[in-house]
Amino acid sequence: MAEYTDPRVSAEQMPELSDGEDDFDVDDDEEQWMEEEEEEEGQTVTCLFCDRSLSSVAATLQHCMLEHHVNIVDVIRTHNLDDYGYIKMINFIRSTKCTASSLTELCDTASPWESEDFLRPVLQDDPLLQIDPEELCDIEGPVPPAGVRSHDALLQRARAAEDRARQSEETLARAMDDLHKLKLLAQGLVLKAETCKPGNLGAVAELREDEDEAYFSSYGHYAIHEEMLKDTVRTESYRDFMYRNPEVFKDKVVLDVGCGTGILSMFAARAGAKKVIGVDQSEIIYQAMDIVRSNQLEDKITLIKGRIEDIKLPVEKVDIIISEWMGYFLLFESMLDSVLYARDCYLADGGSVYPDLCNISLAALGDTQRHRDRIAFWDDVYGFNMACMKAAVVPEAAVEVVKAETLISEPAVVQTIDCNSVCLSELEFVSDFCLKITDTTDCTAIVGYFDIFFDKGCGNKVMFSTGPQVTKTHWKQTVFLLEKPIPVQAGAELRGKVTVRKNKRDPRSLLVTFDLGDRKQTYSLL
Ligand code: SAH
Repeated sequence: MAEYTDPRVSAEQMPELSDGEDDFDVDDDEEQWMEEEEEEEGQTVTCLFCDRSLSSVAATLQHCMLEHHVNIVDVIRTHNLDDYGYIKMINFIRSTKCTASSLTELCDTASPWESEDFLRPVLQDDPLLQIDPEELCDIEGPVPPAGVRSHDALLQRARAAEDRARQSEETLARAMDDLHKLKLLAQGLVLKAETCKPGNLGAVAELREDEDEAYFSSYGHYAIHEEMLKDTVRTESYRDFMYRNPEVFKDKVVLDVGCGTGILSMFAARAGAKKVIGVDQSEIIYQAMDIVRSNQLEDKITLIKGRIEDIKLPVEKVDIIISEWMGYFLLFESMLDSVLYARDCYLADGGSVYPDLCNISLAALGDTQRHRDRIAFWDDVYGFNMACMKAAVVPEAAVEVVKAETLISEPAVVQTIDCNSVCLSELEFVSDFCLKITDTTDCTAIVGYFDIFFDKGCGNKVMFSTGPQVTKTHWKQTVFLLEKPIPVQAGAELRGKVTVRKNKRDPRSLLVTFDLGDRKQTYSLL
């Protein structure tokens, strides 16, 4: 009677399940802003038109307006000054020592600071050169007196900037998502075109009408099933669970949600089930019908084509639900939603869903070579700077096999799901995590993976992991690259917060946000 053990996952490592609330706060940002303002206040700023030193940029601009009757914001607006124009204007005033009135006269005609010479700073570390003229002009109305540009105002701006950044990240994630959908749609079209008469445009229109069609089309092709069947870690775990626990299946009615080629239905039949019902919306089910007949199991296995949510089962209740619904990072594809629907509609009291327990784990990675390949690469591409591409690369989580030797922390379980009791809303969650660092190096990415357990009522429990330290599966691992590596010390803890939510534009895809101290990045999973 072999009990599974997974030495990497101990009870202490399991944090409490989060309450699922989106509890982001801005405390850290507030502190940062306050520090910045204190710094700004510590610096003195020399007036543009007299020798007075003032305590801040805002105070200086206010002083110029009150004492010298020059509103710098107006000058910026009137001359439509960009960063360079603004710098040149400040240096022009300082170097020519022009008076406020002569500046006003000069400005009436043209900008007298056109020369590139005025790009050279006149004062070392001139605080007036460190501000963004556009931001200055964004403040409506005249510059408020020093001190009035209080924490509140700065905080408001910080929050607005943070909102804008978040919105941009989400827009980007959605755009990438749309691209992926287009790709799936195109694949679907090709597959469909192969099975339709040439010139049958009705099929195209139909495809556009139903977004999920692309998803099911991708499962219509044999190749995806070949890949899953050849994933021996996956398929043998299901087989071993059923064959080694015949007492669980004896004389039971089993529902196989998303039966594909029918492999799990056939395992269940061989394990002693009285009746098995396999459901799949994809056209692969027609192959499954042949397969079931070829194996003389048609008396035991009934196959139904359709979405589990749309069809009506020939029985009221089932004793067991089996399904292989897991996607990348466990929840991608959101197929678990359909299994929960089946559970809530059809599972008899005392019945069970298998697999029942699932963990999502994270670990820190230190793979400088890979980071260089993916990020620094863009700094010099055949002698050209393509650094802007990093903004597209980073937010796209990568599905790839991670070398175990690049792990630089112990893993931490961030979510545990019990398929017999979890509800839909818990599939989106926020979880704090703490990674115990094992190497002194740079953390270049966070890796995510999942473990699956066939546990409830099994004399012979079975589990498998999709982590980097064991045999690889077709799920590989999910890598969330950090734009800038974080230096870490062996023995230290890397603390953070992970948020997993469905992409509202496409609930089958996920948005995963990592909050690591002052860094926050949203990743989309395509
Ligand atoms: N059970 C098979 C196939 C798993 S892949 C195996 O283990 O090899 C998941 C399958 O579920 C796909 O064939 C897909 O078409 C099907 N599927 C996903 N969501 C479904 C739903 N809501 N209703 C019916 N079938 C679904």
